[in-house]
Amino acid sequence: MAKRDYYDVLGVSKDATDDEIKKAYRKLSKKFHPDINKEAGAEDKFKELAEAYEVLSDGNKRAAYDQYGHASTDPNFGAGGGYGGYGGGGFGGFSGGFEDIFDSFFGGGGGRGRNPNAPRQGSDLQYRIHLTFEEAIFGKKETIRYKRDEECKTCSGSGAKPGTQPKTCSKCHGSGAVGVERNTPFGRVMTQAVCDVCGGTGKEITDKCTTCHGKGHVETDHSVAVTIPPGVDDGQQMRLNGQGEVGSNGGPYGDLYVVFQVEPSDIFDREGTEIYYTLPISFAQAALGDEIEVPTVHGKVKLKIPAGTQTGTNFRLKGKGAPRLRGTGNGDQHVKVTVVTPKNLNEKQREAIRAFAAAGGDTLVEDEANFFDKVKDAFKNKK
Ligand code: ZN
Ligand code: ZN
Repeated sequence: MAKRDYYDVLGVSKDATDDEIKKAYRKLSKKFHPDINKEAGAEDKFKELAEAYEVLSDGNKRAAYDQYGHASTDPNFGAGGGYGGYGGGGFGGFSGGFEDIFDSFFGGGGGRGRNPNAPRQGSDLQYRIHLTFEEAIFGKKETIRYKRDEECKTCSGSGAKPGTQPKTCSKCHGSGAVGVERNTPFGRVMTQAVCDVCGGTGKEITDKCTTCHGKGHVETDHSVAVTIPPGVDDGQQMRLNGQGEVGSNGGPYGDLYVVFQVEPSDIFDREGTEIYYTLPISFAQAALGDEIEVPTVHGKVKLKIPAGTQTGTNFRLKGKGAPRLRGTGNGDQHVKVTVVTPKNLNEKQREAIRAFAAAGGDTLVEDEANFFDKVKDAFKNKK
């Protein structure tokens, strides 16, 4: 299947503005969205639109496309020779700028693209696990379930009906790429394009496996038991080898990245292994000292408050923090004391505090609220 011109696909002129391209794409992608349009071929049309838009909406890619046509988007384009391969994993589209293409004309020795039959690792997947504050501190075992592409068991991943074999592509002889002659400002140049017969796989399947329809893989419900170690924190992730998508040509599975989302606590704050707690104490406790039970994630702990403790004083409860993910032991819990000034005193309390102030030699000018309270009290006493 020959590729259509990207401008034709979007129905815009060659000198269309970015805005016109965007508008055309929006309109057409809505029309052919597979969720909306159930007609045969709508999905292919939708993919074609996305591909065209990806190139034409990017200044660099569009300039390259204008100059060299579809060859500019070919992942095999210019790979090989003196030009170091780009991309790394996967069969991602050409992502370099115009300079990269320019280089490939001169640096590249017309070498072949990557071997389409080489085993390639599957894609990585990501899964978010929601944890309570305590679960993150103490760890948890959980079985997670998700969908992933797995090797088709019917054809063992070959894509061919059991008993048949995929054969080497007759057009590209298994390389997955074909040479295309193009006119460029530098004259006629041989470039490589993805083979249109095999789609770059280098193989042709005459009798397709009926389970996977020739793809060699099927979407499968997959579950994996995850042991979350004690001490993980919000945003951290854990890699599970081989729990991602199936590889191609017998390559290994990709990995699964489990990302932790940790719920905050109502009473504690946490920074790494350290836990912070604010302890409200009364003026009497602060002045005279006390022994107070303080909550920690490891249970209640008695904390001695010495006489004369100021508001804002910090105490450390050693080993009552979160476990160290690497290493042994726990962090600490930090207790910050806040002295609460009493409100709504009864007359007996007020008298005691006046006496306390007088004993220290203070003369007080009490605020008006207290004055009116006193008047009220005076009325009460008359009854
Ligand atoms: Zn199959
Ligand atoms: Zn081919």
